[in-house]
Amino acid sequence: MISRKKELLTLMNIDTSWLKTKNNTNYDLQSFSQLQLEANNCQKCQLANGRNNVVFGEGNEKADILIIGEAPGKEEDLIGEPFIGRAGKLLTEILFSINLSRNDVYITNTVKCRPPENRNPNSTEISSCAHFLDKQISLISPKVIILLGKIAAERILNTSEPMAKLRSNIHYYKETNIPTLVFYHPAYLLRSPSEKKKVWDDILFMRENINVC
Ligand code: SF4
Repeated sequence: MISRKKELLTLMNIDTSWLKTKNNTNYDLQSFSQLQLEANNCQKCQLANGRNNVVFGEGNEKADILIIGEAPGKEEDLIGEPFIGRAGKLLTEILFSINLSRNDVYITNTVKCRPPENRNPNSTEISSCAHFLDKQISLISPKVIILLGKIAAERILNTSEPMAKLRSNIHYYKETNIPTLVFYHPAYLLRSPSEKKKVWDDILFMRENINVC
């Protein structure tokens, strides 16, 4: 609709640079890179002290599916990209199983710097980093958010419910109508291979209830 409008305005020699669409906004792309620059220089919490790289996120900034994990691990910290270790490989396989590549989605974490010894990020670190994640969600404006594991679920849904209760339910991000689902974290599935089947149940639930893949 907007591209038709743009076509007509262009034919009338009218400037169309103000036209804003979800899929093509220089303003948003600029904001995204500005936000990444801000994160790269961030010293807001103690995790800045031990990091090699800020792991801001990776993928399609216009994606319909936004995936949020917990925090960067060792490999992610060294390379600067999210989900590239064994858990990342499993996540890539899960996406592949539903005909998606990593370039079709956007992947990020609740906090952007690695906690020492891969411990869980604490509440101060999570709230210090909240601004980056909230802004990413707002700029991407996804059709669905997938939360991997309890840390991401607690942060985004502001809940302390156990994973078993959070899975297979449609939640909503804050006051938006963005459906938000909770999946087991791939690292947990690697530690508990008998639970792997549950991720396929989660995907089936998403396919049956949300029209994105
Ligand atoms: S974890 Fe987030 S808030 Fe803390 S230093 Fe890194 S980017 Fe900044």
